[in-house]
Amino acid sequence: MKIAILGAAGRMGQNLIHCGAKMDGCELVAAVERPDFPLLGKRVSDPLLPENALAYTDGWPETADCVIDFTFHACVPEHLRQAAACGQAYVLGTTGLTEEEQRAVHEAATRIPVVWANNMSTGVNLLLELVRRSAEILGPEYDIEIVETHHRMKKDAPSGTALSLAKAAADGRKVNLKDVACYGREGIVGERPVGQIGIHALRGGSVVGDHTVAFMADEERIEITHKASSRESFAKGALRAALWLQGKPAGLYSMRHVLGFE
Ligand code: NAD
Repeated sequence: MKIAILGAAGRMGQNLIHCGAKMDGCELVAAVERPDFPLLGKRVSDPLLPENALAYTDGWPETADCVIDFTFHACVPEHLRQAAACGQAYVLGTTGLTEEEQRAVHEAATRIPVVWANNMSTGVNLLLELVRRSAEILGPEYDIEIVETHHRMKKDAPSGTALSLAKAAADGRKVNLKDVACYGREGIVGERPVGQIGIHALRGGSVVGDHTVAFMADEERIEITHKASSRESFAKGALRAALWLQGKPAGLYSMRHVLGFE
């Protein structure tokens, strides 16, 4: 499958190139960066890539069968529009999308197949499943609190993964997350309401991404934790999603579909 990486020089882009260069079935055809990127036209350097195999470009990668987007939320609607015009499959990893940008994803998915996941790692997607099931089984007498930790460069908070975990917990309880979410606490906030789902963000150092979901009752506490030690876990998941998209009809898919949970 011919794959283009959008955001190729970024932290995720570099991991995608490294993992894509050695993954069977993947052919990297474009390393796309923003128009003011200083290394446009220069060779992408990775020990696994043949000499001069790939250079940074800023045009739309029309020859790709699938584009993988790990860029910046504001660019996503335009990227989706271009992919839809070219009939390309789309793996969307960029997080922090506004409601309007999210609508653009739904609109594009009526025309092309899109895998959209705030966290593409296999382990996190298993965690989502465990959280959904746990919330369903344990019920509202177990208070749910989610704590995430990320590196100091991360621009959005809480992380997209923490939001997905909160949604999985709310889905397990068959409630709407908007009605029960509490993002951080400060001051005289009063007693914790039954059924609330707390979400908290820590920032510092070079932490790739830790997420803990705690279920707390009076007599016991369950904590489920995932710790990513390398961005390769996200990159491998995104490439797996791209390969899975081959031949799929237009529609919005998640890693649940890619991993066969649905
Ligand atoms: P980064 O800032 O290191 O990289 C982003 C890259 O995108 C930069 O090189 C930037 O120049 C480039 N870029 C910006 N606008 C562009 C455009 N219009 N066209 C092409 N390239 C453009 O960030 P990062 O750590 O690699 O993360 C990127 C995004 O992916 C963030 O939203 C992050 O939260 C998300 N992310 C998602 C997952 C997941 O599994 N879904 C995992 C890690 C990070």
